[in-house]
Amino acid sequence: MKSAPSDPALLTFDQAAALVAKCAARLGKHHPAIEEIDLAQAPGRVLARPLTADRDQPPFARSTRDGFACRAAEASTHKPLSISGATHAGLAPSGPLAPRAAWEIMTGAPIPLGADAVVMLEHVEAKSGRIKLFPPRTVEAGENIVAQGAQARAGDELLPAGIRIHSGQIALAAACGYVSLPVFARPRAAILTTGDELVPVGASPAPGQIRNSNGPMLAAMVAAAGAEPWLLPTAADTAQALDAALAQAVEADLLLITGGVSAGKFDLVEPALARIGARFHFTGIRMQPGKPLVFGELPVSGNESLQIENGAKYFFGLPGNPVSSAVTFLLFAAPILAALACSREPAPRFALARMAPHADRHGKPGLTRFLPAHCTFSAAPGSMPGVALVSWHGSGDLVALARSNCFVMVPDEAHTLEPGAIVRILLF
Ligand code: AMP
Ligand code: MG
Repeated sequence: MKSAPSDPALLTFDQAAALVAKCAARLGKHHPAIEEIDLAQAPGRVLARPLTADRDQPPFARSTRDGFACRAAEASTHKPLSISGATHAGLAPSGPLAPRAAWEIMTGAPIPLGADAVVMLEHVEAKSGRIKLFPPRTVEAGENIVAQGAQARAGDELLPAGIRIHSGQIALAAACGYVSLPVFARPRAAILTTGDELVPVGASPAPGQIRNSNGPMLAAMVAAAGAEPWLLPTAADTAQALDAALAQAVEADLLLITGGVSAGKFDLVEPALARIGARFHFTGIRMQPGKPLVFGELPVSGNESLQIENGAKYFFGLPGNPVSSAVTFLLFAAPILAALACSREPAPRFALARMAPHADRHGKPGLTRFLPAHCTFSAAPGSMPGVALVSWHGSGDLVALARSNCFVMVPDEAHTLEPGAIVRILLF
């Protein structure tokens, strides 16, 4: 039988999070295979080698405006400068610029030799092949020019290994001539759903049956965490079915099992894990939802896809209730997956938000709570994102889960969420 929520033998949320973080840090030493993938496939993958600049960025001093390249000191006297040529983007740098001359230039074009500023088209009077800066306007050397190499020098490291590649980094890689990028092989997470009541999504449930929603949910969460989901068929609540399913699941780099970890008669997952040599780090947390969460490691068989030096293969027994599964995945499984993926990105992700005026929900003494909530990130300028609790009917409430985009964290010492209070939110 598992312990009651207030049982001092259960870990606190902070203790459990620290323990998982320590285990994730131990995984920092492993070396997944490196694969080369096309730029278009790179978003969300983890960069395996630093990205370096193939040439200076920008590769030449360039104009940030449409206007006239000139010498700042000459233009600032307000005497006319003769227009001695024009350069548009794509042309080689021209010049040298003769004394008291200006050179018509377009955004992105290279600055002619000898020029040290660009005056904007809108700021000059152009007449009979000459320009004059409107008084009393003056221009400083360097204005509207980005110097060659201002952003990076050829050979500079631009991005470190371990980042999860986003669109801005795709742009940088493209500018540096990478048609493909080296990325780490994704860790594979087995998702084993358990429960006699579960039927596949496409089936019509008989009375008393429900569709397996945790499987697709966790597959989506695993993919979003930068790993490869491996959905196994649902296992029935029998020792035999669990043994057979676990024998398969151990091939993965991480095992996510849902259901069967509460204190009920058919909660057979822990004994099944014990039969394959599991070492349990914890079997419950003083939190809600997610109290029955199980975390531990299995002896390594040696044929897994990742080369894990220290021999740790972790598993989570996630509670079957969908909200509990989601919260415990985000808080505890995501950091382990990030470590397996060699990602430097921190997980879980928290932010601060301001509670909506009608927040009267109470915390529970001795438990850290994560309440489904909706945060409006498009806050008015200068104000913090606002967050409102989504009304819910307990941790099986999939409708509430689907209507939320974060969870408000209620630390165990706080019993009430005051309207307008600044709270921590766990991002979904
Ligand atoms: P358990 O942790 O097995 O006691 O399950 C707790 C609750 O979660 C029960 O109401 C189960 O029917 C439900 N549940 C368990 N697994 C799933 C699943 N894969 N999809 C949806 N609901 C589930
Ligand atoms: Mg069950």
